[in-house]
Amino acid sequence: MWLKMSNGKTLGIAILGYGGMGGFHAKLISSMPELTLCGVYDIDPERNAVAVENGIHAYGSRDELLTDPNVQVVTVAIPNDQHLAECVVAMKAGKNVVCEKPVCLNSGELQQMIDCSNKNGVLFTVHQNRRWDEDFLTIKKVYDDNMLGNTFNIESRVHGSRGIPGDWRNKKIHGGGMILDWGVHLLDQALMMIDKKLVSVYARISNVTNEEVDDGFTTVLTFEGGLTFTVEVGTSNFINLPRWYIQGENGSAVIQDWKLNGEIVMVSDWENRDAVPIVTAAGLTKTMAPRTEETIKRYPLPAIETDLKDYYRNIKNVVEGKAEQIVKHDEVMAVMRLMEDIFKSAETGQIITY
Ligand code: NAD
Repeated sequence: MWLKMSNGKTLGIAILGYGGMGGFHAKLISSMPELTLCGVYDIDPERNAVAVENGIHAYGSRDELLTDPNVQVVTVAIPNDQHLAECVVAMKAGKNVVCEKPVCLNSGELQQMIDCSNKNGVLFTVHQNRRWDEDFLTIKKVYDDNMLGNTFNIESRVHGSRGIPGDWRNKKIHGGGMILDWGVHLLDQALMMIDKKLVSVYARISNVTNEEVDDGFTTVLTFEGGLTFTVEVGTSNFINLPRWYIQGENGSAVIQDWKLNGEIVMVSDWENRDAVPIVTAAGLTKTMAPRTEETIKRYPLPAIETDLKDYYRNIKNVVEGKAEQIVKHDEVMAVMRLMEDIFKSAETGQIITY
């Protein structure tokens, strides 16, 4: 297995970059008795000072961090365009690496990172933490258990109304844009959920608040057998569409929001097609009239247990040679290639078929 084995009882981890996400990792690692947070290093001295105020050791330099023998894993939480260079330096120094998402900017860079990990015999994986999200696992269960009958359509959306953030995320050179920022999570979830061959991709992007990078996008993935999966990220949505919407032949389910408000509605009587017609000023319809309550059944969404600490528990087990990494190279590569095709489809206006 991986050559850089744990020598003590706890796994020693250092974090490169102590910004928003570096702080999140620091808290998570500190909350787990089986891990030791050895320290952090940020190129911004003010961030190192904040770390010290928070009782965390701050290294004097990146090289000091990389030569600390207690550090078995380096978590890289810096802007996207620097992931390749910093992960490669850490792996060449013999450290196992957890890289933040998106792993890097394109599949060529990713291949270099994978090659470097293989050459140096170290773990290299990506923090696809949203695999542990309750909303995702709830819809995955509805799909996996075929609760709605044959599923033919899934829609996954995240909507905000604050435009693209004003930091490095709105700069192309830093790997900004919503496809790389949020798309990477939702597309990873889609590919983790659907164990079928992807047959086509169509995408369009938006530039409402920012010309330089996409501030939102919509893509429709079609899988073998015809299942469609829409993924949408928006930053100019003052009214949000549901986080998840899924349709099977016998019912639909919805998750409205992060708080998991939602329900499952199933048909209980297919034969009873009677409906009170909806009459509008210009016409009448029975087809689109709501069902009467006696022909449907409403159910709560299934309850799911999830714990993000399992991410780092897995890292520890991998380093100790006891488990395979959960977030695998080929999965990360599949998502990266899909994002490249989404950019291509949006640029050309064409459906990409496989
Ligand atoms: P941020 O701007 O808040 O923090 C980045 C920090 O990195 C800054 O403090 C900066 O000074 C430091 N930095 C920059 N270059 C550095 C270098 N070469 N060495 C050391 N420090 C350096 O950004 P963020 O929101 O923390 O995002 C960091 C990474 O985490 C990005 O890749 C982002 O996509 C990812 N992220 C992931 C999630 C998630 O849920 N998985 C959430 C937010 C951000």
